[in-house]
Amino acid sequence: VKIYDITPVIHKGLGVFPGDQIFEPTTVMDFKNGDNLLLTKFMTTTHIGAHVDAPSHYARDGQSIESADLQIYMGAAQVIKIPRPQGLRVEKKHLENIKIVAPRVLIQTNSFPNPDQWNADFCGLSTGAVEYLASQKVKLIGIDTPSMDPQDDKELESHNAINKNDLRILEGIVLNQVPEGVYFLIALPLPIKGAEASPVRAVLLDKVHFN
Ligand SMILES: [Zn+2]
Repeated sequence: VKIYDITPVIHKGLGVFPGDQIFEPTTVMDFKNGDNLLLTKFMTTTHIGAHVDAPSHYARDGQSIESADLQIYMGAAQVIKIPRPQGLRVEKKHLENIKIVAPRVLIQTNSFPNPDQWNADFCGLSTGAVEYLASQKVKLIGIDTPSMDPQDDKELESHNAINKNDLRILEGIVLNQVPEGVYFLIALPLPIKGAEASPVRAVLLDKVHFN
């Protein structure tokens, strides 16, 4: 089995939304200080690197992450490349000519090429694109940007469409090394009580025989 790790390395330099909490580790105990072990704590946004949003992130009465249905975050996933000019949304018309064959679709926009170097003009999805994917029986949409909506969108139009169609999202994945195709995705959120998101270790397994 070939494994594509689509998770950016989590460290202090990993980009977060302007004003959000970066990943900040603190060493609590250390061999170097005469302690008998190494112990670390950290501060971070829950939306660090590859992560999934719970509905409570974008809907007032939405579920929080500990009650996530894990089935959604494991299974057949189709990787699609749709390069768009910076800052624009992927629209329905960019998807219509692609045969959707899996209930999970991971979209590579290539508009956020270096997770360690934040760029504000990454691409998102349009309401039409989300609705189209929902009509194709897609349950989870993944994207290689920090959000399904462009950074300056306060209305969160695609998050709202995601909510309306009861889809789930996987954000911040890295797809540059992954050819288009169908893989077995594993991207499980941690059961953090009351949290609106969780970082995940997202991987794609290739050449798995699953039935
Ligand atoms: Zn998020």
